[in-house]
Amino acid sequence: MRTVRDQQALSYPLRLPDHVQADVLRLLDSSREVINLTVMALWDRLDLFATRTNTHAYKQVEEMITPPVVHGHRQWRCEAEQAGRILRGQAERKQQFALILPLLSQGMIIPSSENKRGGKNRAQIKQALTSLRDAQTDGGNAVELQSLIEQACNCYLTHGRFPDTYEDMQPVPVLKTGILPYAGDDGPQMGQTYRLSLDLDAKTLTLALRAPDETGKWARNWRDKTIQVALPEVVVVRAKAGKMLAPTLREIIESDGTRYAVLDVIIDVPVKEQAAVEEMQTVLGFDWGIRVLVTASVVDLDGHQIGRPFFVDTGPFDGRQARLRRQIDQLKAKIARLEKQRDRFPVGDPRRKPSEEALPLLRKEIARCWRKYEARNNDLAHLSANVLLVLATTFGCELIAGESLKSMKSAGRGRGAKGRWRNWRNNTQVRGALWRVLRYKCFLAGVRLEWQQPRHTSHTCPRCGNPAKTYTSPEHRTTSNDWGAWLCCSAADCGWNGSRDYAASLNIARLGAALIRHAQTTGRVIHPSIIHPSVQPVSYMGTRAALRLPPLASRGHLIASGRIYCNGWRLSVKLRSSYVTAIMLRLCG
Ligand SMILES: [Zn+2]
Repeated sequence: MRTVRDQQALSYPLRLPDHVQADVLRLLDSSREVINLTVMALWDRLDLFATRTNTHAYKQVEEMITPPVVHGHRQWRCEAEQAGRILRGQAERKQQFALILPLLSQGMIIPSSENKRGGKNRAQIKQALTSLRDAQTDGGNAVELQSLIEQACNCYLTHGRFPDTYEDMQPVPVLKTGILPYAGDDGPQMGQTYRLSLDLDAKTLTLALRAPDETGKWARNWRDKTIQVALPEVVVVRAKAGKMLAPTLREIIESDGTRYAVLDVIIDVPVKEQAAVEEMQTVLGFDWGIRVLVTASVVDLDGHQIGRPFFVDTGPFDGRQARLRRQIDQLKAKIARLEKQRDRFPVGDPRRKPSEEALPLLRKEIARCWRKYEARNNDLAHLSANVLLVLATTFGCELIAGESLKSMKSAGRGRGAKGRWRNWRNNTQVRGALWRVLRYKCFLAGVRLEWQQPRHTSHTCPRCGNPAKTYTSPEHRTTSNDWGAWLCCSAADCGWNGSRDYAASLNIARLGAALIRHAQTTGRVIHPSIIHPSVQPVSYMGTRAALRLPPLASRGHLIASGRIYCNGWRLSVKLRSSYVTAIMLRLCG
C-alpha cells in the first residue's frame, strides 16, 4: 500500500508593488546570469544529478563548482539551488528518455509530400505509449512521456534523424525568465538575502530584499527598505493552518514584453488522512467522453448504483474554443501572407515597411489567443475536478475511480476547427490537466484516487456484465457502430440501454468497487479488468438517489466553462462556479 504523506506545499504568487519592481527585476537578471552560467558549466555532468547526494540541490552544486560570479555567499547558494533543481529535473527527464529511445522509429513520421507537410503519425505514437504501459503509474506519467516523444519527433522533422542521446535533442536549458528560490538562505528572520514577516491579523506581509542598484552595487542597508504587500484571504487561512517555507522570487514576462516580479509564498499545509480501505463503502467512477467531457456514477460495494449519473457537458465551451482555434488559424494565414509580401522586396526596400509594421501586432494577437485558449482549458480542468470532488463528498465516496489516461480512446475523429478542438491532443491536454488537478485536490481532501483499466468499459453492460454493442443513437439500433454513443444490452433477460459514457462510468465505478473488495480481503491493491469475475454487476437503487445539495442561489452568472447538469432532476441544474468554490473551500480549507 502507498505511504500517505501528511503535508503538501502550496504556492501563492503575490505581485510586488510597482515602486520596487525595477530593483527586484535587476536582482532577478543578475541571478539569472549566474544560474545560467552554472547550468552551462555542469551540463556535461548531467548524469551525476540523477543521484541526489543531498536533499538540498545547492549543496550538490556547491560540491561540484565554485561560483562563476560572486555576489555574496547566501546569494550564490540560492542561485546554486535553482541551477541544481533545473539539472535534477533534466536528469530525471533523461532517464525517461532512455525508456522511449528504443521505441523511436521512422514509422512515427508521416513523410512530407508535395502538397502535404511532414507530420507526426499519431497512431504510431499512441501505439508506442501503449507499449510503455506501466502498471504502477496512473497516466500522468504518460503525458510527460508523450511530450518527450514529440520532442524527439520534432528533432527528426528538423534534422532528418532521431536523436542518439538526450543532450542531442535537448539544448542546454537556460532560463529566459528570472527565478530565485530563497531556500538556500538562513530563513525569514536570519536571512542574508531576504527578510520576511507576516502579520496575519492585519493581513500583510513585510519583506526586504537584497538587490543590486543601477550601478550594480549591492547595498548594505537593504534591510531598512521594507516592502508591504497585502495578503489575500486564502493565504491568511493557509498560513494559520500550515507552516511557511522559504519563498521564491519569480519574473513574469507578458507577450508584449511587459515584465514584473512576483513573490511565491509557499506554505506547507497538513493534509487530511485518506480513508482506510476497510472503511470504504462507496465509489465514484468517472469516464471521459467526446460529447460530454466527464460522466460520473456512484456505486456501493454490494452491487448497487446510488443515484443517477452526472454529466459535465462542455458543449458551449467547445464552441468557444473552436472559434478561438479558427481565429488563431486565420491569424496564422494572415502572417504567412504578410511575410510573403515582405519577402518580395530586398532588405531595406521601403515597400517592406507596411508588412514589417503589421506583423508584430498580429503575432501579439496570436499569443493573446493562445493564452486565452490555455487558460480556458485550465479552468475547465479545475471546474471538472471540483465537481467530481463535490459529488464524491456528497455521496460519501472515499474512492474516486477514473479511466487511465493511457487509453486516449477518442483519437482524433473530428474535422474542421470544431473537430480539431475535440481531437486527441486537446483532449489529452485537458485530461492531463484534470488528472493532475484532481490528484492534488483528492490528496488535500483525503479522498483516494485510483486509475482503472479502460478496456471494454464502453462495451460492457453494467447491469449484467455481458459484452454489449453500441449504436449511433437509441433510434438507430439496426446496425451496431463501435463508436456509437448509445449502448444496448442484447442479453434476453436484461436489455439495459443507456448512454455509452454513462455505462462506462458505471463500469469504472464497478472496477473501483472490486478494487476495494479485493483490498479489504487481501490487503493488496490490484486493478482488475472489466471481464474479471470479481467485478460485480450493479442494480439501480433509486431510493438512495437524493443529492444532499442545498438549494441553488440565483442563476444570474452561469459558469463560464460549460453547462453542468444532473439529469437525476427533472430540469437540468446549473451549478455556479462560486458555489462549487464555496464547497471546495469547506472541503479543503
Ligand atoms: Zn445487460
